[in-house]
Amino acid sequence: MTNTYTKPIPQADAESQEFYDGARRHELMLMRCLACGAWRLPSRPRCPDCLSTDTEWAKASGRGTLYSFGIMHQKFPGFSDEGSYNYATVELDEGPRIVTNIVGVPDAELRCDIRVAAVYDDVSDDTTLIRFTRASS
Ligand SMILES: [Zn+2]
Repeated sequence: MTNTYTKPIPQADAESQEFYDGARRHELMLMRCLACGAWRLPSRPRCPDCLSTDTEWAKASGRGTLYSFGIMHQKFPGFSDEGSYNYATVELDEGPRIVTNIVGVPDAELRCDIRVAAVYDDVSDDTTLIRFTRASS
């Protein structure tokens, strides 16, 4: 794959490296609290629900519900080739919300509460972005 992707690419830090490594494997990885079971995103060392630091990384279902969205018309650097695009918040079945894009669905057909599933967009040799599309069922 050639590196022709020109849009900004997120940079992993120590707390989010497994999330991005999982994306490259086409898996949606989230931190989960071993004390209370709560899933969390963004990843952080302490559970916001019970304050435990006992955590694991676990594979999430990759399914959720479109919680909110907007249509971007501003042409920021790297986006000049797009007429408009959506940005969305998906509430994952595990609970956390993820900021993403909905692909394969015309913007005019986007509605809150539609069921969505993760798709993995390999934008470069090193980076895979997690986007969502309408779930098949
Ligand atoms: Zn907890």
